[in-house]
Amino acid sequence: VGEGGEVTYKKIHTSQIMGSIQLGISHAVGGLASKPERDLLMQDFMTIETTNFYSQGSQLTPAHHYSDFRFKSFAPIAFRYFRDLFGIQPDDFLLSLCNEPLRELTNPGASGSIFYLSADDEFIIKTVQHKEGEFLMKLLLGYYMNLNQNPRTLLPKFFGLYCYICNSKNVRMVVMNNLLPSSIKLHEKYDLKGSTYKRKASKSERSKTVPTYKDLDFLELHPDGIMLEADTYTALIKTIQRDCRVLESFKIMDYSLLVAIHNLDLAAKEEAERRRNNSIGEEDSGEENGAVAGTSSGATAHPPPLVRSRSINRQKLVAHSTALESIQAESEPIDEEDDVPPGGIPARNAKGERLLVFLGIIDILQSYRLKKKLEHTLKAMIHDGDTVSVHRPGFYSQRFQNFMAKQVFRKVPSLSFRPRASNE
Ligand code: ATP
Ligand code: CA
Ligand code: CA
Repeated sequence: VGEGGEVTYKKIHTSQIMGSIQLGISHAVGGLASKPERDLLMQDFMTIETTNFYSQGSQLTPAHHYSDFRFKSFAPIAFRYFRDLFGIQPDDFLLSLCNEPLRELTNPGASGSIFYLSADDEFIIKTVQHKEGEFLMKLLLGYYMNLNQNPRTLLPKFFGLYCYICNSKNVRMVVMNNLLPSSIKLHEKYDLKGSTYKRKASKSERSKTVPTYKDLDFLELHPDGIMLEADTYTALIKTIQRDCRVLESFKIMDYSLLVAIHNLDLAAKEEAERRRNNSIGEEDSGEENGAVAGTSSGATAHPPPLVRSRSINRQKLVAHSTALESIQAESEPIDEEDDVPPGGIPARNAKGERLLVFLGIIDILQSYRLKKKLEHTLKAMIHDGDTVSVHRPGFYSQRFQNFMAKQVFRKVPSLSFRPRASNE
């Protein structure tokens, strides 16, 4: 692992994994076009399609520059149905995932999973373990019965399960909705479980530009929680309750609420600061890029924004998928800000600063107990007073809901409860 395209997963260069899975998905989803739409059948939840991709190409597959590989598409017809449920056209799905290079994200998790983000920010590909893939297959029918009844949910939306096989190494991966916009700065990021046992970001995590903090860090940084307008608060907590009930019914535990915060007031300050520095820089040294002051994107401080195939203000491709839509809240949209992505939940912190919150439930496939984590699990159980194993999913879910409803989010009558900064 290191900078400069040296990243590997199971000893395979991730650039090769990325390129190969784009070919594989392209072929798997493209090939579905010839299969007419029809009602789902039980067997659709169990089918696995396998294709060989030889580097010299074949009648079915294109030639490519990677090693020969094999690609499996799990329950392809079922996943097509689910994509349809969220309004994702096959062409759009392929454009998002296969037309431009994927971006690799650094993963704060301990699992060693790799995350790839589609260039348009819509989809995340996460590598999963064999057991997790198996579990998703078992879950599929029931999980999607729930999504079908209620697409407004914070639960992860799975749009595909694939396996890339090369040199007898298996790389399994799920395609999910991406929760976090990359076009704006996320000032804080939390992975919250409602547990306090060792729930503190490590030193190395803290040294990152945007660390993923945990429960204890949250309590320290936001002792008064994050304020939401009453209706928004109620909608959010109801959604979390309903989602937890589904997870509990599948005996799923160890999931997290991913919470990311864009601080509008801080962003405005940072922008003003940056412009001030920029204009000073231009006077002193006459930088070579004669960008017009005020419109420059701060070429010295930030890499140039990636060209995106969709404007960030456009509706998301995946229906019902923004945080606001997921909780069915119709909060006042944020005015004046034209360049924030849609769907963040308006909120305030205790200082009264205006926030946009992006969130969703993640990591739900790890319902089994990992052997290497068993010791941690036992200690955590004793620490949490959660020792009756049959009740564990219920215990987990209840504690999770309590934490979100009491510590993380707080209800205020209105978000204009504090006067705006005087110079606005
Ligand atoms: P663990 O060690 O906890 O098992 P993991 O490898 O299973 O970790 P996750 O817990 O699923 O990984 O996610 C790790 C991080 O990846 C999250 O904290 C978050 O920053 C990012 N992430 C995961 N899922 C999404 C998503 N759907 N959208 C955006 N970011 C995500
Ligand atoms: Ca995990
Ligand atoms: Ca996790």
